[in-house]
Amino acid sequence: MSLRPFQYLEPDSLEEAASLLSKDGARALAGGSDLLSEMKEGVIAPQALVSLAGLEDLRGVEATSDGVRIGAMSSLASLAANTELQQRYRVLTEAAAGIATPQIRNVGTLGGNLCQRPRCFYYRSPHTLCLKKGGDSCLALPGNSKYLCIIGGERCYIVHPSDMAVALVALDADVELCGPAGRRNIPLNEFFTGPGSNIRAENALQHGEVVASVSLPLLPEGTNSTYLKAREREAGDFALVSVAAVVAVANGRITWTRIVLGGVAPYPFRATTAEEYLMGAATVDVDTVAAEAGRRAIAGATPLRDNAYKVDLAANLVKLAIISLLSGDDVEWPKS
Ligand SMILES: Cc1cc2nc3c(=O)[nH]c(=O)nc-3n(C[C@H](O)[C@H](O)[C@H](O)COP(=O)(O)OP(=O)(O)OC[C@H]3O[C@@H](n4cnc5c(N)ncnc54)[C@H](O)[C@@H]3O)c2cc1C
Repeated sequence: MSLRPFQYLEPDSLEEAASLLSKDGARALAGGSDLLSEMKEGVIAPQALVSLAGLEDLRGVEATSDGVRIGAMSSLASLAANTELQQRYRVLTEAAAGIATPQIRNVGTLGGNLCQRPRCFYYRSPHTLCLKKGGDSCLALPGNSKYLCIIGGERCYIVHPSDMAVALVALDADVELCGPAGRRNIPLNEFFTGPGSNIRAENALQHGEVVASVSLPLLPEGTNSTYLKAREREAGDFALVSVAAVVAVANGRITWTRIVLGGVAPYPFRATTAEEYLMGAATVDVDTVAAEAGRRAIAGATPLRDNAYKVDLAANLVKLAIISLLSGDDVEWPKS
């Protein structure tokens, strides 16, 4: 498949980038590891690529009075290796370290990871016109649904591919967006949208907007966190199911928690039923508490023909994550 000609633009400021991106057919280019494959595979044909590489505003990890701000152009490798983040937000650095391969983590950026497009075969094939590309039906449903969602599907059944999204939602992160109308901050949990809101997009980015940064709040005393990811291949593979678990404990009880699942829904799925169950739970009979939280985390799932395996996988990953956090032991988790 040959590439169609396109313009390559290098803005000097976020404002200029937003203005260039407001033009029809323009797309933001970060590391290019997803965007350029979509172009080479003939899935999309933008008329202009607006490089974000020269924008200093989008770089760096900086401690703030109320947490940490991470620029959208930070590479995944730099985040995985950041010792400050490793100590305070382990779930995030574990998620980053488990993404793809070293080469992709070196070029892939936080913003690109959050805004990457779905991996559904039927979306990625240039030969099929699925709902996301303007077609009138989901071709995956009668085809292969092994990798699709078990929660939140509505005409389209993709899963959100980003591991960073799952970890960041579990950290109650906010995202800063910059566009032609200026800057705005929203909770990352509200940034990701399901097919019911706009079947052709996976997030709330408006025309011309870019992700500028992500902010993490300070976490309560006694917080520990982890990211567990089950995949088919050990190297360079997306999650079949993943869990980001964050738990704060004081005086033998859970005082704060977030349980977020990846690979099960078109967005990072916050398992609030499990969170409610865990809040206030005593940390004595850890196995029982963890198993019940796992069961509740996925209780509302409605699997498709080929993906009922995700229900047990998700329940078990949640259980393992909680056992690991409450016992302080690392766990062996299933790789397939
Ligand atoms: C073999 C392989 C395995 C992978 N495995 C995993 C995995 O296990 N887990 C996982 O999470 N990911 C995985 N990925 C995806 C990979 O992490 C992404 O390709 C990468 O993070 C995208 O970042 P980028 O900077 O290269 O983005 P680009 O390719 O430049 O952009 C991706 C998309 O985001 C948009 N975009 C980029 N930056 C911004 C911004 N700041 N604001 C608004 N829009 C923006 C672009 O327009 C484009 O649509 C895998 C990819 C490959 C090829």
